[in-house]
Amino acid sequence: MEKPKLFIPGPTHVDSELLSSLAEYPVGHRSAQFSELYDEVVDGVQKVLFTSNRILLGTCSATGLMESAVRNTVQKRCANFVCGAFSKRWHEITASCGIECDSISVELGKATKPEAVREALETGKYDTITVVHNETSTGVMNPIAEIAEVVRDFPDVVLLVDMVSSMASVKVEVDKLGIDVALASVQKGWGLPPGFAVCSVSDRIFERSEQISNKGYYFDFKVMEKYAKKSQTPTTPSIPHMQGLRAQLARIFKDGLENRFQHHIKLAEEVRSWVRQKFDTFAESGYESNTVTCAGNPNGIDLIEMANRLLKRGYMISGGYGPLKGKTFRIAHMGNLQMDDIRDLLTTMDNVLDEM
Ligand SMILES: *Cc1c(COP(=O)(O)O)cnc(C)c1O
Repeated sequence: MEKPKLFIPGPTHVDSELLSSLAEYPVGHRSAQFSELYDEVVDGVQKVLFTSNRILLGTCSATGLMESAVRNTVQKRCANFVCGAFSKRWHEITASCGIECDSISVELGKATKPEAVREALETGKYDTITVVHNETSTGVMNPIAEIAEVVRDFPDVVLLVDMVSSMASVKVEVDKLGIDVALASVQKGWGLPPGFAVCSVSDRIFERSEQISNKGYYFDFKVMEKYAKKSQTPTTPSIPHMQGLRAQLARIFKDGLENRFQHHIKLAEEVRSWVRQKFDTFAESGYESNTVTCAGNPNGIDLIEMANRLLKRGYMISGGYGPLKGKTFRIAHMGNLQMDDIRDLLTTMDNVLDEM
């Protein structure tokens, strides 16, 4: 049976050429060939993130690195800024690790604002904050540059950023902004199959990690750093994903990094303008995501029926997440999707809505 084309916010569409790059014969993970692959991947990820910070590779989904980021970093107290399901998850992860933390939340559909970050940091209670750049559940893109600017006024505070659904699709200059940890899995903005994650880690995070005990082994940044210095990972990584990343990075640089970011802005504008004609956008005005659009349903259309009809025609979109289930739906425009894919989807959605 033909598989539907994915317009869901992860896993995202992978074309067959890219897919086949994950089917190379493996190399031994203590071999020179592996270290060459490792260095290529690390170098490429650094370029995409505009950083010279160390890149760590995780054979896990992004959630693994969300957990390791807080475990390796918080010595005093963590402020988790929450604006939807994934940012809320990071708070739950932090609390479940036994780390002192507070959730500072806004109404669903709203963005985390720099003023709220300043207000929290002025209390002097926190040494760490977590922010989700692109809240995939609500289609909100937080103003990360403005937030980072505030954090830079507090030299003892480190900034951990979930870039799961924006990395490699939206431009974020990690070093310029002073982001201490930027993390993502590869099945969203990177456009690869799921099962692998990457992050950039600043020196001050390694300094903190050095002083923290009980981090476990698999997600200890200091253990990962020790092997990274030899261009290796502590344990056997998903080598197919690294081969896939190498292929994807080559493609990204061939197309041009800036072109890729511009391309995603154009896709977002196309989807948003369609959504505004037929539905409405759920995200606060001015904070709409450039990789996923969350649509509200002002006319009470049967969203399940709509999604089912689309699926029969070979297109998979996504329903609302968590408390937004049944109230919103989401169209992803991240990763490998092209303008023709988006136009095909929107034309088909027009046809489906006419029939309903
Ligand atoms: C998907 C997603 C996650 C979880 O990623 P996994 O790779 O499934 O662990 C976390 N944060 C955001 C913003 C996401 O979109």
